[in-house]
Amino acid sequence: MLTLADIQSQINTENFIGGEPVKATASETYTSLNPSDNQPIATFALSNAEDTSRAIAAARKAFDQGPWPRMSVAERVKLINRFASLIEEKAEFLGAIESYDVGKLLGECVGHDVARASANMRFFASKMEQWEDEAYFKDAAFLGRKIKTLSIAKREPAGVAGIIVPWNSPIMLATWKLGPCIAAGNTCVLKASPWAQLTILQLGQLAKDAGIPDGVMNFIAGGAEAGQTLTSHPDVDRVSFTGSVGVGKAVNIANAQARMAPVSLELGGKSPSIVFDDADLDMAVAGVARGIFRSQGQSCVAGSRLLLQESIYNEFMPRLVKEVKAMKIGSQLDSSSQIGPLITKEHLASIERMVQAGVSAGAKATIGGRRPEGVEFAQGNYFEPTIFEEVSSEMEVWQEEIFGPVLCVMPFKDESDAIAKANDSEFGLSSSVWTTDMDRAMTVSSAIESGMTWVNAHFVRDLRSPFGGVKDSGIGSEGGRYSLEFYTRAKMICLTYPR
Ligand code: NAD
Repeated sequence: MLTLADIQSQINTENFIGGEPVKATASETYTSLNPSDNQPIATFALSNAEDTSRAIAAARKAFDQGPWPRMSVAERVKLINRFASLIEEKAEFLGAIESYDVGKLLGECVGHDVARASANMRFFASKMEQWEDEAYFKDAAFLGRKIKTLSIAKREPAGVAGIIVPWNSPIMLATWKLGPCIAAGNTCVLKASPWAQLTILQLGQLAKDAGIPDGVMNFIAGGAEAGQTLTSHPDVDRVSFTGSVGVGKAVNIANAQARMAPVSLELGGKSPSIVFDDADLDMAVAGVARGIFRSQGQSCVAGSRLLLQESIYNEFMPRLVKEVKAMKIGSQLDSSSQIGPLITKEHLASIERMVQAGVSAGAKATIGGRRPEGVEFAQGNYFEPTIFEEVSSEMEVWQEEIFGPVLCVMPFKDESDAIAKANDSEFGLSSSVWTTDMDRAMTVSSAIESGMTWVNAHFVRDLRSPFGGVKDSGIGSEGGRYSLEFYTRAKMICLTYPR
C-alpha cells in the first residue's frame, strides 16, 4: 500500500493548462486533510477568475485552432484508449490519492472508482465510433421544379465545455463527463470541489503522456469563483454540472443571464427504497443497507428513505438493525473497514446538525445518531450509521438530502400508499423497489417520479442507459448517446437535385 509520504512525493498540486502544470495567480489556498485523522495531505491554490479564464482560453485555442476536433474519430479513439490505459497503470496511485483525500474505502477507490474511470473513457470512445448519422430522402418542389432532397442530420462538436464535479466520487464523475466530451471532439476545462481535487490534478499529465493534444483537457483546482467563471464565460459552449440542487440552480441562472449555453444538471437526491411484503427479505435487508451506507451515505443515489410495508415492518427492522450494527467502522485505508470517515469536519458537523434536528422533531434514532466512541475515532470525521424510525413526512430528515450515513424509515399500507409517499419529495433522482412480483415491480417503477429505478438491486447500471434525475434532481441525462447528444450540436445539411 502506498503511504502518505509516497503520495506526497509524487503528487501534482498545480493546475494543468495547455499541456503543462501552471502556477495559479490566486493567493487563496486549501489544504486537503486525511478524513481519518485530519492530518494534511497537500496544499493547492484555489483558482480565481483569472486562472479559470486562462484555462478557458487554452481550451478555446485547442478547439478553434488545434487538431483535436479535426481528427478522425479513429485517431481520437486511439489516444483516449491510451489515456485509459495510463489510468489503469496508475490505478494504485490514483486510488490511494482519492482514498486519502475523500475518505472512501481504499479497495473501492482502486477497484471500483478508478476502474470505472478508465472504463468510462473507453466506453465513450467506443460509443463515438459507433455513432450513426442520419439521412432522409424526400421528393419536393422548389421554384416550380421537381427536386429530390437528401437531408443529412449530423452531429458536430459543440466547442468548449465547462465541467464542474462534486467531491464524493471525483475521478469517476470527472471521466463520466470527460469521456463523451472529448470523444465527440470538444475541448474542456474541468474543476472539482476543493474538498476533492487531488486525483483530478493528476489527470493532465496522463493526458499529455497519452498524446492527447495540449489544451484539450485542462484541469483547475478551485471553488465557487472558478465555478462561476466557468458557468458564465462567453467562450464556454456547454456547462456540465454535478452537485447540489442549490448550486445547480445558481449555475443555471448565471449561465442563462450570461451566455445561454446548454446546461446539464445532475443534482441531489432523497431516494426511496420500497420493500413489499413479497420481497426476498434477506436480499432486501442487505440491499437496503448497502443502498444507504455505501460510501457513508455520501452518494447522490443513496437510498436514504426506506418505505416498508406494514405487514413486514416488525420482522424486517430487527434484521436490518442487526445487519447495520455488524458493519465495521474504521479508517478508509484498513481493508476490513466497511464504514469509513466522512470527508471533512464541516460535513460531519452538518450531518450532526440535521440528525439533532431529527431528534428534536421527534424522530427516534434506533441505532447511531452520534460519533463512535474510542481513541481510534477521536481525530477522524466518523459518524455511526444511523437509522431513524417514527419519522413524519414534514420532518427535515425525511425531506432534505443529508448526504451521510442516515436512513429514515416509514411504513406504508399498499402500492398506492407506497407510491404517494415515495413521490412526496422535491427530489426525483433514483429509487429501488423490492418485490418478487414483476407486474408490481413494473407498475410501481413506472409510477415513481424518479429518473432511475432499480428492482431488487441498487447502484448497478449499464453505461448505455440514461443516468439523471427529474424534479429538483436535475435536467438532462448522462450515459451512452444521451451524453454524446449533449456534447454535440445537431446540424442539418440539405442536398437537392432535379428529379
Ligand atoms: P456543491 O453543489 O456544493 O458543489 C459542486 C461543485 O460546484 C463543486 O465543484 C463546487 O466547488 C462548485 N461550486 C460551488 N459554488 C459554485 C457556483 N456558485 N458556481 C459554480 N460552481 C460552484 O456539491 P458538493 O457538496 O460538492 O456535492 C454533493 C452534492 O452533489 C449532493 O447534493 C449530491 O447529491 C450531488 N451529486 C449528484 C450526483 C448526480 O449524478 N446526480 C452525483 C454526485 C453528487
